[in-house]
Amino acid sequence: MRYFEEESTTFVQSCGSKEGAISPAIVSSASFAYGSPESAEKIFDGSIKKPMYSRMGNPTSAKLESLLSDMDGGVGAIATSSGMGAITLCVMSLLSCGDEVISVGGLFGGTYAFFTQSATRFGVKTSFFDVDDLKQIESAITDHTKIIFLESIGNPNMRLPDIRAIAAIASKYGVLLVVDNTLTPLSVKPLELGADIVIYSTTKIINGHSSALGGAVVYRAVQSSGDKLSSSRYPFAQKFIDNLGQGAFIGIGKKRALRDFGMSASAHNSYQTIIGLQTLPLRQDRVTSSVERVALELDRAGLKVNHPVLKSHPHHSRYKEQFKRGCGALMSLDFDSQERAFRFLNSSNLATITANLGDSRTLALHMASTIYADFDEKQREFLGISDGLVRICIGLERADDIIEDFIDAARSI
Ligand SMILES: *Cc1c(COP(=O)(O)O)cnc(C)c1O
Repeated sequence: MRYFEEESTTFVQSCGSKEGAISPAIVSSASFAYGSPESAEKIFDGSIKKPMYSRMGNPTSAKLESLLSDMDGGVGAIATSSGMGAITLCVMSLLSCGDEVISVGGLFGGTYAFFTQSATRFGVKTSFFDVDDLKQIESAITDHTKIIFLESIGNPNMRLPDIRAIAAIASKYGVLLVVDNTLTPLSVKPLELGADIVIYSTTKIINGHSSALGGAVVYRAVQSSGDKLSSSRYPFAQKFIDNLGQGAFIGIGKKRALRDFGMSASAHNSYQTIIGLQTLPLRQDRVTSSVERVALELDRAGLKVNHPVLKSHPHHSRYKEQFKRGCGALMSLDFDSQERAFRFLNSSNLATITANLGDSRTLALHMASTIYADFDEKQREFLGISDGLVRICIGLERADDIIEDFIDAARSI
């Protein structure tokens, strides 16, 4: 196996149990009985660690949280109802009216809409930069900047950020760096590169079968002295640091967002996500290898392909140096016009046409007529959405079958 040999052992071993039920238990209970008023008091003040109420945490979701936290070397995680729930939890728990976000790189449509349409209604302003605008990013940081937000790979523009370089800027100014690592779990380890918080839509390749919506926020440990979080930029944080020490972020996420907004994960979805997680290393290895082959072969066949494995891609050398474990299953094809893109999609026998990503099947979607239909010309240009753009997410089919089907479909248009 090329990329994820070690994780295969850890993941199957840690998802199961050596005694009793092997598969994780689904604890389908909204509330939990405390037994006595004395233990109720202790559960509420946190001195007894037992479930309080499923909005604030559930044993099945707690298992998922510990697996995801271990995957990224975090101190803990909070599972959520969806990836957008995870982004909302992270942003709303750290920001107040008047605060600012710096967003770097291509953005998932839902996240872009969240920053430009919803967060703005609460007085949170976001400015957007390309991954290579390092100087502009640095000069945009003000006293009100609370997070720098980026995706590990631009979806669907395929631009790759230099995460270490952006983390160094975040560190210089004491601003938290949040990385949405949905498309590259295992491939990219944001906390090791200097990020503070990692976000997942587990709906995608972590679940891997389009069977359950979910999300998670993974946090790093807070250091006992000199941590970014203890500076005057985050005045609300000190009481969480005093009470929870290295786990302060978890308290901030739960008490400043999860409790009041209620984007909690359901036990059934967390269970399905854990089942998916067991085979994540195998699947990520497969699609990461396949996407490179498909991209190279389609390029050779004369299609307009966007993937950094190609020498013509502006971030090809960054891909080779900093993305040694690939950048997930995504690539895109440009057919120049909506009509030609539609003809390709109608001719392909293999692609499933849907907005999801990271499924076991190969997925495809015309961007400008669907997810980005509401966006104006300027926004589309910034996000790299051309008229003929088709986003492809490679699945577990044999790479040769995908290549043959796509070349046939492209010839027929
Ligand atoms: C899908 C996606 C989300 C949102 O996740 P949902 O589970 O659909 O809410 C966020 N970020 C990225 C990169 C995504 O692909």
